[in-house]
Amino acid sequence: MLTTDPLAVPLARATNPRTGKALGKLGLETAEDLLRHYPRRYAEPGTLTDVSRLAVGEHVTVVAEVLRTSLRTTSQGKGLLQSTITDGTSRLELTFFATHKRKLEWRESQLRTGRRGLFTGVVSLYRGTLQLMHPECRLFGAEDDAHDEEEALLDASRPIPVYPAFAGFESWKVAQAVRTVLDPLREEDVPDPVPADLRAAHGLPTLLEALRLVHLPADEQDWRRGRDRLRYEEALVLQAELARRRARTAREEAVARPRRSGGLLDAFDARLPFELTAGQRTVGEEIAAELAAPRPMQRLLQGEVGSGKTVVALRAMLQVVDAGGQAALLAPTEVLAAQHARTLRNLLGDLADGGFLGGAEDATRVALLTGSLPAAARREALLDAASGRAGIVVGTHALLSEHVQLADLGLVVVDEQHRFGVEQRDALRAKAARTPHTLVMTATPIPRTVAMTVFGDLETSVLDQVPAGRQGITTHAVPADNPRWTDRTWQRVREEVDRGGRAYVVCARIDADDAPAGGAPAPDDEGTDLLAAAQDTVGGTAPRRPLRAVTEVVEELRGRPELAGVEVGLLHGRMTPDEKDRAFAAFASGAAPVLVSTTVIEVGVDVPEATVMVVLDADRFGISQLHQLRGRVGRGTRPGLCLLVSAAEPGTDAHARLETLAATTDGFALAALDLELRHEGDVLGAAQHGRGSSLRLLRVTRDADVIDRARTDARALVDADPELGTWPALQDAIARSLAGEREEYLDRA
Ligand code: ADP
Ligand code: MG
Repeated sequence: MLTTDPLAVPLARATNPRTGKALGKLGLETAEDLLRHYPRRYAEPGTLTDVSRLAVGEHVTVVAEVLRTSLRTTSQGKGLLQSTITDGTSRLELTFFATHKRKLEWRESQLRTGRRGLFTGVVSLYRGTLQLMHPECRLFGAEDDAHDEEEALLDASRPIPVYPAFAGFESWKVAQAVRTVLDPLREEDVPDPVPADLRAAHGLPTLLEALRLVHLPADEQDWRRGRDRLRYEEALVLQAELARRRARTAREEAVARPRRSGGLLDAFDARLPFELTAGQRTVGEEIAAELAAPRPMQRLLQGEVGSGKTVVALRAMLQVVDAGGQAALLAPTEVLAAQHARTLRNLLGDLADGGFLGGAEDATRVALLTGSLPAAARREALLDAASGRAGIVVGTHALLSEHVQLADLGLVVVDEQHRFGVEQRDALRAKAARTPHTLVMTATPIPRTVAMTVFGDLETSVLDQVPAGRQGITTHAVPADNPRWTDRTWQRVREEVDRGGRAYVVCARIDADDAPAGGAPAPDDEGTDLLAAAQDTVGGTAPRRPLRAVTEVVEELRGRPELAGVEVGLLHGRMTPDEKDRAFAAFASGAAPVLVSTTVIEVGVDVPEATVMVVLDADRFGISQLHQLRGRVGRGTRPGLCLLVSAAEPGTDAHARLETLAATTDGFALAALDLELRHEGDVLGAAQHGRGSSLRLLRVTRDADVIDRARTDARALVDADPELGTWPALQDAIARSLAGEREEYLDRA
């Protein structure tokens, strides 16, 4: 059946079968795909130059007439074509070589005496004569010369779109196909996702105009105007989707969980060993009020490393438990889930001993549910969750499995959300009879643009102070391969251990045999994506020297005189959950006060006695990641020390990054810097699955103003028409972008 939508026409039909097939290799199937295949950049048009003004080395285009052309065989048996052209006053030589004279015959007939045309190339000097070697020649036709010439001149002055192409199908062929598709289109063929009112308000061209501007610009201003409008469209589609999503959830009913006095929360507050910070109090009240309303809370809590997000989350959970509901805490890894369960139990003390002898009256339980739990423990945890005996259920995505039932899920807390997709959040929410309240926490501060792009459907709260009384963290960049510094490093570790402290030693890979492609650190089940991102940050600036490995470093440290008598443990993603737990417990208790590990310990791990963080090959990690790592120390009453060991030479970018890190502890400033250094795809890729597919021109690294504007506009649209039915083209665009995202999500699953 013939489709009537000109944008949906397969390229084989819109152009020709051969071209269609070639474009298919670029992943382009329909006319629309091709039109959305924007030029990657624009080459400067050759500037039209007088032949008398030519300078050696310049890339020029001249209009001239052929005076004479000769073709001959050189003494080496090659073909040589020489042509003299003139603009009436000055002369210029054109020179072409070929392996054989025969191959230049068509060129000879093209450059007939008397023909006029455009000649483009780089000016060189040969035996005192100015020449163009292998110039590009566009000869004007014989008939209707004037019109032809005018058009050719216009063409020559246009910026040349350069498309992502591949060998065998060059950019200009893509350009030609684009033209074939674009030329016959009329406004009514191209529905515009940007509503007319918004176009008028911002002075934007229509979608069809914009496509013409980017594919066939007359000048730089054209393609910029087109590109800006397409970029705004991307931001608007995304923000409209997020705003609609937010509005949908806001229309759902939630169970109000107002604060009850005399319950667990009051008991917990009464025994807190510290004062809440002003930030914790303010954010706490915000959350308490939202939990008390019959509409689902949708809040993002981001905060400086060590700002005390866990306590804020726990207080929210207790309010819900006091109101008869349950709270689920979702963590990205088993280590973290176990750690959270332990932390929550510790913080709660006998308030978490519900059902046990000696448990406080009113006490609840914290159940831990991970994929690798032994059968008996799992059964018990499942029962606790299903019966409601556990007010708090902590787990990894194993919590999402169908077998897990919750008696009355009232609040979902997602920790370190950047590793969960929206779909996963939804899967958990679906376990509740009515929409639960949601609190999402990020591990590190994230730049505002990322928050708006990835968490745009959530309201944001920020904790930007760390509790008073913290002794702070001192960070030093330490040169590797310097024996004196190395000795000093392990001496410092020893001193801390002797004072009752603990030291983390972080390595970029697990063992010496790991030789992943490109010298990337070993994929560790907990650290993979961030390490990969860090790898890109480094972007080839670091010399490819072997990275220190956990297993090696453990052996080295066990043999070092400075650490004689000190137990050194190890931890990495390839150990079984049981082994990991044991290793971590030994570290926390002080039985093995030095822990050599991969970035498994990166997020959220909390051992107050830890005072030293040594990161080996520190230049191989991203800035935010290092900030997160050092946030693991200095959490108790003693100051923290972070040593970033690296072989990066002073003067390199890698070294400069470490110096920056040593000089600032402001996580928001570092996150912004990190974002600038990283590739876009990594930022969004790490932040949320998909997105890459629908964002072609928009860059969260630099388009804050566009995103802001689009967000305001999108919210206004949703306020006016919550499901956006007034703007079917916008609805369609959202559906398409979501479909792409889902595909990608499934690919990865
Ligand atoms: P993060 O925000 O990085 O997740 P945590 O919630 O792990 O930080 O808190 C870091 C440490 O600070 C924990 O040991 C926690 O008990 C402690 N803490 C939290 N709030 C306060 C406070 N108001 N005063 C003192 N210590 C606090
Ligand atoms: Mg935390």
